[in-house]
Amino acid sequence: MSDSDASLRERAAKVVPGGMYGHLNAAIFGPGYPQFFLRGEGCRQWDADGREYVDLMCGWGPIILGHRHPAVERAVAAQQAAGDCLNGPGPVMVELAELMVDTIPSADWVMFSKNGTDATTQALMVARAATGRAKVLMAHGAYHGADPWCTPSPAGTTPNERADLIEFAYNDLASAEAAAAQAEGDVAAIIVTPFKHDSFEDQELADPEFARGVRALADRIGAALVIDDVRAGFRLDLRGSWEPFGVRPDLTAWSKALANGYAIAAVTGTDALRGPAQTLYSTGSFWFSAVPMAAAKATIETLRDIDGVSLMRRAGDRLRAGLDAQAASHGFTVRQTGPVQIPWLSFEADETLEKAMAWSAACLEEGVYLHPWHNWFLSAAHTDADVDRALQGTDAAFAKLRARFGAG
Ligand code: PMP
Repeated sequence: MSDSDASLRERAAKVVPGGMYGHLNAAIFGPGYPQFFLRGEGCRQWDADGREYVDLMCGWGPIILGHRHPAVERAVAAQQAAGDCLNGPGPVMVELAELMVDTIPSADWVMFSKNGTDATTQALMVARAATGRAKVLMAHGAYHGADPWCTPSPAGTTPNERADLIEFAYNDLASAEAAAAQAEGDVAAIIVTPFKHDSFEDQELADPEFARGVRALADRIGAALVIDDVRAGFRLDLRGSWEPFGVRPDLTAWSKALANGYAIAAVTGTDALRGPAQTLYSTGSFWFSAVPMAAAKATIETLRDIDGVSLMRRAGDRLRAGLDAQAASHGFTVRQTGPVQIPWLSFEADETLEKAMAWSAACLEEGVYLHPWHNWFLSAAHTDADVDRALQGTDAAFAKLRARFGAG
């Protein structure tokens, strides 16, 4: 029997700054969130107190096939038995790079690393090496990682580390053009997420005209178009999230769902940037570990073979329709935004998030793990029955909310 969540928190407070930090710090989510988890299976997770949840966060994105997916675990076990961190990468690095180049039309080559931040940072390095320019255009409020150039908190960073960023407004091509003009010919890259998924805000799908517009802008000013597909990658389209718009980036940053929970990130790029990519010194002790590469290969193959995107879309449609009906029947006006596979729900006139936090706390009590101010993630393991189980919990949570706030 492991320690309770409360006693683990008490012990952590003595040996970890703040007891916990970063995006998994449950203290900043809202009331009622467990901090520590024991295990996951499919689309369920169990916290340190042994409580079971239908998991609508999927480890904040990485879990795309379900926790401990058999095909991935088999590939991991086989590679683990052979070795993980060797004096050079395993053959699996070449196999994975070939698979990604075959799957992603904008990819002619792949560089691997560990985290999404590694990939976004490396993509900008390639763009700067290629152009000899400094400035990067990024959308206001977008999250691209936790290094000093992009962490949302200025603590521990200097203004210099962000001096080369110029912001534009998402889905506003005129503002991107204005940002480019401000840079006076010194733009190395435009970095953009496939849709607007900023925390605390309703999500916003990309306007295809905006996507095509930033592509044309990058071409016109000779900058690289970088898509940060770290969060959305492989959930919207295996080929890349803007492929349905016919918009191909010069560089793409991948991580999260790439290996169903194993630690790996990648930058893919076009032939034109192969030479500049080759000039970088960009590396890490664990970047070439073979186990996560084996996991990534199995993840992409499985997503392709089972049409994982359609499965996630089906689960997402069912969840969205169910939540809409429940909110209406309990008398709440809610907004559901973003792609159905990466959903979010907010309450009208809830600027302080009072309702969102009370509802998500009630969902936890009912065995459903979702989030009051960050988008959720679905996986290919969410069956109709799992979605219905989640909806049972969310319905009870709406009823509790109504008892507390009245309808509205
Ligand atoms: N870009 C985006 C769009 C992300 O959502 C994230 C992680 N939330 C990152 C970059 C950074 O990834 P990581 O946390 O793995 O460094």
